[in-house]
Amino acid sequence: MSMFEDIPVDVGIIYEGERIRGREMQVELGGPREEFKFELVQAKELDEIEDGKIEIIGPDLPDIPVGTNVPFGMIIYVGGEEIEKDLEGVIERRLHEYVNFIEGFMHLNQRYDIQMRLSQKSYQKGFNTFKIFGEVLFRLYKSEMPFIEKMQIIFYTDPAKVAELYPEAMNIYEARDARARGMSDDEVDVFYGCSLCQSFAPTHLCVITPQRYANCGAISWFDGRATAKVDPKGPVFEIPKGALLDEVTGEYEQVNQVIKEKSLGEIERVQLYTGFGYPHTSCGCFEGCAFYIPEVDAYGVVHRNYKGQTVNGLDFVTISDLTAGGRQVDGFHGLSIEYMRSPKFMQADGGWDRVVWMPEDILERIKEYMPEEIISKIATENRVTSLDELKDWLKDKQHPIVERWTEEPEAEVSAQAEVQQMVQPQMPMGGYTVPTLELPASALPVQGLPSGLNIKIILKNAKITAEKLIIKAEKE
Ligand code: SF4
Repeated sequence: MSMFEDIPVDVGIIYEGERIRGREMQVELGGPREEFKFELVQAKELDEIEDGKIEIIGPDLPDIPVGTNVPFGMIIYVGGEEIEKDLEGVIERRLHEYVNFIEGFMHLNQRYDIQMRLSQKSYQKGFNTFKIFGEVLFRLYKSEMPFIEKMQIIFYTDPAKVAELYPEAMNIYEARDARARGMSDDEVDVFYGCSLCQSFAPTHLCVITPQRYANCGAISWFDGRATAKVDPKGPVFEIPKGALLDEVTGEYEQVNQVIKEKSLGEIERVQLYTGFGYPHTSCGCFEGCAFYIPEVDAYGVVHRNYKGQTVNGLDFVTISDLTAGGRQVDGFHGLSIEYMRSPKFMQADGGWDRVVWMPEDILERIKEYMPEEIISKIATENRVTSLDELKDWLKDKQHPIVERWTEEPEAEVSAQAEVQQMVQPQMPMGGYTVPTLELPASALPVQGLPSGLNIKIILKNAKITAEKLIIKAEKE
């Protein structure tokens, strides 16, 4: 029986984490194949909102061919005596939770990155119009966030309209992000924690400070403050800083205590400004990842919308699977784009002097916040295409990382990194799912294949379980 008797599908926390595969989907809203998509919450005066009104601009669900994807936009207007602008980001982020509560509905990512899927099964049960979708959201929001007094929703599936509104949405996100820029962690007494993603990654907790934006890129320190005030029992809460244990790595006594408690003892320490040792955990919603490249003893950074292979041959999905799950994986570090604008960005690892590769579009987006002298020294997909080219590029441009190399880069992975490589695979007890792993296996004789033929083994969604994985450098 449904939680709401007049809604044709069930709604509840048990559906969080439900995955809708391509072959099961009725429709995909947004997603990687669509350039334009967004979800946006806007605070308005009470008299500007028509409570309960739902509009659909473009085709409704029955008018979208089965198994296809459409550009998608969603604007939610909220009003209430206690509602202020700073709450928009967090109300918006709760969509991730509430949409996933709906049986047969999946919501991934946030803001301009959203990917939602409705299953054929739920559609056939009668969940066949955006009106029902809006109705469920009204009820969940108003019961969970009673400070929302009025709410109105507009769904956009008309491609031209979504494309027209997309830049406006991007400007609104940018204005929100800009608020905390220039503030320092030292100016505040409290940070904020967010445990919203624990349903997917039970040991993960975001620690949101003025200089470390939430991993999903959707919640700033100001957003955390506004939410903790109106919804003190909600997933976003205050963390008093407590004693500063290490200024460079960004380790705080009280933060450690809260993390330990919220991860049920699994994570004992977190250092906010490093990707090694005790890095901030990564759930799976991060906007991007920093990934360590041992061959050059430095980091690459890749973001979710980057479709190609990174300089080490891995794509975002593979790197993100190595990073996600609420673990602390040395050298694989989930982050938001806004954090890359922070003066404390990976400061314990060398900051920008330790970054050697990133996609060109991200470089363009954030370059005004990077040290000027490093911008032309960082390689992109348009500047190099392999690790060998990367090494030549770094030497040629006299990237500061080259000073760390004492011999040839392959042989001189730093002592720190060598240790990290030994402990890196902290796999969950249930094993680890590798989405796609390609192994060159040209040396293997394979029965039935002519000798000398080069083959490649591709493991798709392989589950690998290992008690220990030791990686050792081989001498010539
Ligand atoms: S990524 Fe972090 S801040 Fe964003 S919703 Fe998840 S736990 Fe909260």
